[in-house]
Amino acid sequence: MKFTEIKLFAPATIANIACGFDVMGCCLESVGDTMVIRKTDDKGIRIKAITGGSLPFEPEKNVAGVAIMAMLSDLKREPDFGFELEINKKIKPGSGIGSSAASAAGAVFGANELMGRPYNRHELVKFAAEGERAACGSPIADNVAPALLGGFTLVQSADPIKILELPSISGLYATVIHPQIEIKTSLSRDILPQQVALKDAVKQWANVGALVHALHENDSALFAESLQDHIVEPHRSKLIPRFDEVKKKAIEAGALGGGISGSGPSIFTFSKTLQIAEKVANTIEKIYDETTIPFHLYVSRINETGVKILSIK
Ligand code: ADP
Repeated sequence: MKFTEIKLFAPATIANIACGFDVMGCCLESVGDTMVIRKTDDKGIRIKAITGGSLPFEPEKNVAGVAIMAMLSDLKREPDFGFELEINKKIKPGSGIGSSAASAAGAVFGANELMGRPYNRHELVKFAAEGERAACGSPIADNVAPALLGGFTLVQSADPIKILELPSISGLYATVIHPQIEIKTSLSRDILPQQVALKDAVKQWANVGALVHALHENDSALFAESLQDHIVEPHRSKLIPRFDEVKKKAIEAGALGGGISGSGPSIFTFSKTLQIAEKVANTIEKIYDETTIPFHLYVSRINETGVKILSIK
């Protein structure tokens, strides 16, 4: 069956997950963009509409276009049609929950379906990561991997890309607050130390190992213990108003733990049930209501499958 149009849900993702800086990520179920991708008679890529964000329409500047271009240049035989994209952004760019990754992942997934699926989801990760190069300068996969594969993922190697899919803690919910402040990417990078004390590195890799073990064993207590970041959070959290209070009170309200999502400013927490995740959301809301900062608050299950097809024809 030959399809000409696909509508997708392109999910938001949490990267780093406390101790797993630049390697761990997970996918959200109810936070994400929608995209429509259509075949066109004219070859090439055209971004026809973008709603919900002011982003470049030039395909070579928009991560969605760049990701599809990376895929097309890998194909032995280019298709005899082009692609037209409509992107409806719900994930604000620069929020720290993988806005560009959602577009890059959705774009390659959709174009791949319309071409009769020459690649599997794992193979699509490297193309989506190339799209990320347009957003941040390097082909990072810590958001695009969970966006395409769902669940929890580990970037075992960035070059060549090797992704491991990890199981989730059953019934896990995330509560995420996106305070609408702008943190310049350059500042969130410059604030990080160039060197790491060996004692901190030891704690960090012990926690990454424990986190992976907890996911495999479905051990929420160990998962909670391992959600610690001794290297990045102490520096970047200074850029996020009320971070320490949000994390502390969320844990008091029952959350297993939390941290900075991606490079921030979003803060994530995990909870064992929806009820606890909502209680955590109320607690966080009260803290941010005391500030003048506008914010979005999300409660979401973990998305086990990644990008989803909403309709195809
Ligand atoms: P975060 O991961 O913090 O949510 P991103 O990594 O998505 O933020 O970075 C957003 C950057 O990527 C912005 O500079 C934005 O202009 C650029 N960008 C290019 N194309 C897109 C797109 N389709 N969606 C979102 N951001 C895009």
